[in-house]
Amino acid sequence: MDSMTFVLFGATGDLAKRKIYPALFNLYLNQKLPKSFSVIGVGRGESSDDEFQSRVIDSLHTFSRHLLNDKSKKEEFVKAFRYCQLDVTDTAGYKKLLELVQQNEKEKNMAENRMFYLSVTPEFFDVIAMNIKDSGLGSTNGWKRLIIEKPFGHDLKSAQELNEKLSKAFEEDEIYRIDHYLGKPMVQNLEALTFANPVLQSLWNNRFIANVQITANEIVGVEERAGYYDKAGAIRDMVQNHMLQLLMMTAMHVPKRISENEIRNEKRKVMESLRPLQRDTVGVHVVRGQYEHGEISGEPVVAYGEEPGVEASSQNDTFVAARLWIDNSFWDGVPFYIRTGKRMAEKATKIVIEFKNPLKDLYNSEMEQVEPNLLTININPNEGVSLQLNSKNPINGEMEPITVDFSASKQDVPEAYELLLFDALVGDSTFFTHWNEVELSWNWVEPILEAFKENRVPLHSYSSGSMGPEAAHQLLIEDGYKWW
Ligand code: NAD
Repeated sequence: MDSMTFVLFGATGDLAKRKIYPALFNLYLNQKLPKSFSVIGVGRGESSDDEFQSRVIDSLHTFSRHLLNDKSKKEEFVKAFRYCQLDVTDTAGYKKLLELVQQNEKEKNMAENRMFYLSVTPEFFDVIAMNIKDSGLGSTNGWKRLIIEKPFGHDLKSAQELNEKLSKAFEEDEIYRIDHYLGKPMVQNLEALTFANPVLQSLWNNRFIANVQITANEIVGVEERAGYYDKAGAIRDMVQNHMLQLLMMTAMHVPKRISENEIRNEKRKVMESLRPLQRDTVGVHVVRGQYEHGEISGEPVVAYGEEPGVEASSQNDTFVAARLWIDNSFWDGVPFYIRTGKRMAEKATKIVIEFKNPLKDLYNSEMEQVEPNLLTININPNEGVSLQLNSKNPINGEMEPITVDFSASKQDVPEAYELLLFDALVGDSTFFTHWNEVELSWNWVEPILEAFKENRVPLHSYSSGSMGPEAAHQLLIEDGYKWW
């Protein structure tokens, strides 16, 4: 693997501490980092290299999935870490950063491969990218790459503006946009599951599938993120990115070959076939909700409007459910339902494929109901696949659904950030979001944003600890289905 310098903007932040350092360390332990590498942490505050290294070691103690007592490995690992104090808006200051990077490359005899990870608020993305370019940090003899994480804009226009600015400093194939759902092992496994199994592949179309249900529910409320969340809502925080990515991964058609370009091509085709919502009919297909007070695990919790940092009159959506149609020959007539909410009864990210049930009335008896076959892909918190089949109970002779279950081992499963950082290091962008996916997603979501803003879709309330507003259940009942 190429030697490289990992320049981390926001090195003293929360994401760095909880996710990035542990991910890099686990890659290091698994010998998945280059033999020669350095990490340059950029932060606004003052810190010596020693203090910075201690801070990294502390984060590994708390957050690394390898509970390694051996201190020496951690000490060996952080030797590669340097700190650079820099206000990212201070253009002149980047010269110091460039000198530090170059000095390190020289000392360690490393190629000029530079990974820039922007773990900072998105308002700085364009500023930092331009400064990387203007300072010469981006002029390397090796490769340069940029990693950023959502939000990529807050609507279509702002996303386009941001992308235009980023593309002045980095080519599209140098930009790695993280959607951490794409880093989840079961999401990465979707492709193998649906493409590498002829049994499933032959059923993966509208002849056999009745509907698809994609759920990403959380038990937590807004937590300390009101400042961001109250402007974003579930629609921007979850639907525009994660939910639509899961939809693309589920609905894409098998490519000619498994390669990053082919997969991204197939994902793009899904988005291009997604039926646009019309201004006036958003409310027919989209349900929005906001949590009321209620109980979670027997404990009372407050309504969204009573959360710290939220105005009592807030009309923000903490729940969205929607019915989507993919207008191509594979999915014609198959509704895709998505739902995502906070303060729900259970934490679950899963995809359920409900197969058609032409044998429903085969047995002609109340005792012998033939249930639809269901394929469930559990993504979080449990990882696994299960298939619900019909079977006769040998004791009483009644028909009953049985589940064939595969649960992924809980042990030693790499975390999303680990898988994604490794892919970025080797230059594989399959599980990163391409610009055209971002743009097509915002484009699809735009009429919903407008309808929410203009209050043309009712805001249903739902009790904390429930399964969302009644209207979300009605959405499926209208079509003769139910949420699984
Ligand atoms: P944070 O506020 O904890 O950290 C921000 C970092 O940016 C700090 O190191 C701070 O020193 C630095 N910074 C701020 N202003 C600066 C300036 N002018 N010059 C130099 N450095 C400056 O934020 P975070 O939670 O680590 O989040 C970082 C990004 O990652 C955000 O865009 C956030 O939306 C995203 N994100 C965070 C999480 C998470 O779990 N924390 C998860 C997903 C995405």
